[in-house]
Amino acid sequence: MPNRRSLVAYLVAGLSLAALPTAAFAQEKLPVVASFSVLADFVKQVGGERVGVTSLVGPNGDAHVYSPTPADAKAMAAAKLVVINGLHLEGWLPRLIKSSGTKATVVTATKGIKPIEAAEEEHDAKGGHGHDHGHDDPHAWQDIANARIYVADIRDALGAADPAGKAVYDANATAYLAKLDVVEGEVKAAVARIPADRRKAITTHDAFGYFVKAYGIEFIAPQGVSTESEASAKDVARIIRQIKAQKVPAVFLENVTNPRLIEQIARESGARIGGTLYSDALSDASGPAGTYIDMMKHNISEIEKALAAGPA
Ligand SMILES: [Zn+2]
Repeated sequence: MPNRRSLVAYLVAGLSLAALPTAAFAQEKLPVVASFSVLADFVKQVGGERVGVTSLVGPNGDAHVYSPTPADAKAMAAAKLVVINGLHLEGWLPRLIKSSGTKATVVTATKGIKPIEAAEEEHDAKGGHGHDHGHDDPHAWQDIANARIYVADIRDALGAADPAGKAVYDANATAYLAKLDVVEGEVKAAVARIPADRRKAITTHDAFGYFVKAYGIEFIAPQGVSTESEASAKDVARIIRQIKAQKVPAVFLENVTNPRLIEQIARESGARIGGTLYSDALSDASGPAGTYIDMMKHNISEIEKALAAGPA
């Protein structure tokens, strides 16, 4: 009998050992590629431990203009899901999808978002031809109401790609959406503390159209909604006139654009540089905007500090 008992113990131990590789296999992460860091963070928040996400454009990178690497093509080929912004943000992506031969489902995370049109009135007023009229502004994540739609789209896509994890994705998304509600309240409260006549600022490129519409701070930019085309000398001169005429209190640097243009505008207009806003990319994990929520908190805190107090 003792022999038999030890045999059972041995078998049980053996079974649990044998079960280990299977368990490890079951926990293999769902490979997801996101086109840029903001989307990668949403995927992480919703996917949690079940998902391994690769961001093509990394922290502080410019998602408008990007040259994919061989490693990107490899990640694409291995992905089950590719999450993109759409609205013409990632002009370089269709070629990568094709050349990588990926069989992944491509999810457009802005599905269901009402795009706003890129502001091109200045060019239109000059009767310029060849401009892409009615071009959608891709920076929809700058409105937290839209972030909710991104998160819901990603939650649904993850649940479809990995049905066994659906309950986890649903629960993670619900918890994250509640956090977004809190941040949205903080942003609105901060804007309310800024005197109405000081709710205006300058950034390098037109990345804050959705933020303007949602929260009522006016952002003027010498460069359009993409960083692909440079600001003309005429645009820069117009911005400098506008800063002086409207007493715009501050100009902001952006993490994804060269600081030179804003430094020149500050110098020539006398406006103060209010800090760096994270527009199209998160910072790295150790920076002030390692997640979408930290990005929104950092931006509104910089905006409030620069606009709320004192004369320009
Ligand atoms: Zn942009």
